[in-house]
Amino acid sequence: MVSRVIPVDPFDLVIFGATGDLARRKIFPGLYRRFRDGQMPEEARIIGAARSEMDDFGFRKQVAAALDEFVPASRRDEASVVDFLERVGYVAIDATGTGGWDALAARMRKETVHAFYFSVGPSLFGALAERLQSHGIADPNSRIVVEKPFGRDLASAQELNATLAEHFEERQIYRIDHYLGKETVQNLMAVRFANILFEPLWNARHIDHVQITVAETVGVGGRGGYYDKSGAMRDMVQNHLMQLLCLIAMEPPYRFDPDAVRDEKLKVIRALEPVGSEDIVRGQYLGHRRKDGTSVNSYLEDVGNPASICESFIALKVNIANWRWKGTPFYLRTGKKLRARASEIAVIFKEPPHSIFGEDESWSPNVLTIRLQPNEGMNMTVMIKEPGPGGMRLTEVPLDMSFAEALGEDGTDIPDAYERLIMDVIRGNQTLFMRGDEVEAAWAWTDPIIAGWEAREDKPRKYDAGSSGPEDALMLLHRDGRRWREIRE
Ligand code: NAP
Repeated sequence: MVSRVIPVDPFDLVIFGATGDLARRKIFPGLYRRFRDGQMPEEARIIGAARSEMDDFGFRKQVAAALDEFVPASRRDEASVVDFLERVGYVAIDATGTGGWDALAARMRKETVHAFYFSVGPSLFGALAERLQSHGIADPNSRIVVEKPFGRDLASAQELNATLAEHFEERQIYRIDHYLGKETVQNLMAVRFANILFEPLWNARHIDHVQITVAETVGVGGRGGYYDKSGAMRDMVQNHLMQLLCLIAMEPPYRFDPDAVRDEKLKVIRALEPVGSEDIVRGQYLGHRRKDGTSVNSYLEDVGNPASICESFIALKVNIANWRWKGTPFYLRTGKKLRARASEIAVIFKEPPHSIFGEDESWSPNVLTIRLQPNEGMNMTVMIKEPGPGGMRLTEVPLDMSFAEALGEDGTDIPDAYERLIMDVIRGNQTLFMRGDEVEAAWAWTDPIIAGWEAREDKPRKYDAGSSGPEDALMLLHRDGRRWREIRE
């Protein structure tokens, strides 16, 4: 299959926080892959910036090491790495200081797209935005890319938006939610809006419920300090799960255009009903001792706070108050140290109105599964006659569409979300980035939910590491006569 790639203009991309974890693991490896695939213009330049003092040569060595570590050997070759590194430079800058800005200004070329990736903590966004303008480095066509977390509640998100708006227009601000850069997530829009098949069924009359699961096997790791002030609701639901819910629930936009798509997502967020305490289950993982004598830390040990009541797991039943979805709940769950690393959306359809086959125990509903990781792809189950002479018995078969097969490749060439999103920044396409009002609306829905459990001083339920979460999360669906899909890779 010949891939059609929308060309990218020559650019100067400045990465603030270039020595950090995200830059090493995602940004530079992603940029290299795009370069190696010939999808970056010859004239592209990438300038790293952070406080550490070093020259271009020293920084290139760091980038080379990151590529060694994070790009599989089969996807990398010496010649293209050398070529790529020639396009990489470095300027030492303290976001809150005065040094280094003139040196950066001198490196920026005229007639190129200027993009600035803020891969630093949000407390530095304002200082960076201000200095880019006051030193004449940004121009009206410049873009800034900001990382999550975008605030920790509505007030802080509004403050961040206001700070950025002092220096850049909304059309210049790219708020990253890397879930939106995933191939499957975009395919969800293609499947919904480029086929006649689904739209007539895509509503509460035909869809029983929707499940969105983002399960991780890792704990909070080295991020314990940050995570314990945030929790699963702020870290995952307010942004990633909310975005997935929007793509499932939104009305067809009139065009695949950034504001048309984001307007429709915003309407969904505004239609979300408040969630009462009976529809929320929060959890915290327990530790245990393995047979070999080593031990798995509990959440409390991982964050070093024995009194923490922050959640490492959350499940919620969410209702959308509009004509399309009234009566069809969306069940969301996400957590750490669960049994498998698996992210998927499952759309569970209703029973046919009447079964001409009578009671058949093997009947099960049609399910459309959109798999984000691992093995990105979609799958639709349908009922057919069980093959053979055994009479009219029903059996379920999958109509599988894993992208690796559909693209005729081994799957590893599906671009990483970050590489796709960075190229969209250069192309000036904001469709897959969150708009300021969207982020604020998401916090406006999230804030009272969190305030509710804080006021009640709810403690999270304990769950075993390696399980599917607390028992009560199962009950959330059982009491509605439903059950969660198994979490499996
Ligand atoms: P990190 O590893 O702590 O790196 C922070 C970077 O910022 C370093 O390059 C640091 O370099 C630089 N820096 C710190 N203070 C600075 C200052 N005053 N002026 C200029 N540079 C400064 O953080 P990270 O994990 O890469 O995360 C970066 C951002 O991405 C954060 O907002 C984080 O929430 C977000 N994020 C990260 C991940 C991830 O997987 N890591 C995922 C999603 C979102 P110097 O010390 O040399 O200045």
